[in-house]
Amino acid sequence: MSTNTGSCLCGKVEFCVHGEFLYAGYCHCKMCRKSSGGAGTVVGGIQSEKMSISKGDEHIKRFHRSKGTTSCFCSHCGSMLYGEKPSMGMVHIRFGALNKSPKQMPQAHMHVSSKPDWYDILDSLPQFAEFPPQK
Ligand SMILES: [Zn+2]
Ligand SMILES: [Zn+2]
Repeated sequence: MSTNTGSCLCGKVEFCVHGEFLYAGYCHCKMCRKSSGGAGTVVGGIQSEKMSISKGDEHIKRFHRSKGTTSCFCSHCGSMLYGEKPSMGMVHIRFGALNKSPKQMPQAHMHVSSKPDWYDILDSLPQFAEFPPQK
């Protein structure tokens, strides 16, 4: 089973991901834009039990950003690390926090209707105005 690691910018928080992501994508929703200060985020989903905090649990702050999602970030440097989705039993890990590229590449762009005008999508991945259709 593959293992990946990640950390925040200052290095006080480190985490491990055991196994492969089930899906991944770009999200351009307002919450992702505001929390990243960029055009959105790239996240990958994995079962929450496959992710563990290896260092600095006490530095993690949680922000309940919506009904189903709690954003987790380093209270020292402010890096957004992952979102907890307890009702799905999943965590959505921000790919930018990972130390090496995961096998699962981003598959689509979500919430493109909220994408800022100053950012053009130049790849050929599928684009969804909001959420992708549920399987
Ligand atoms: Zn930090
Ligand atoms: Zn989003």
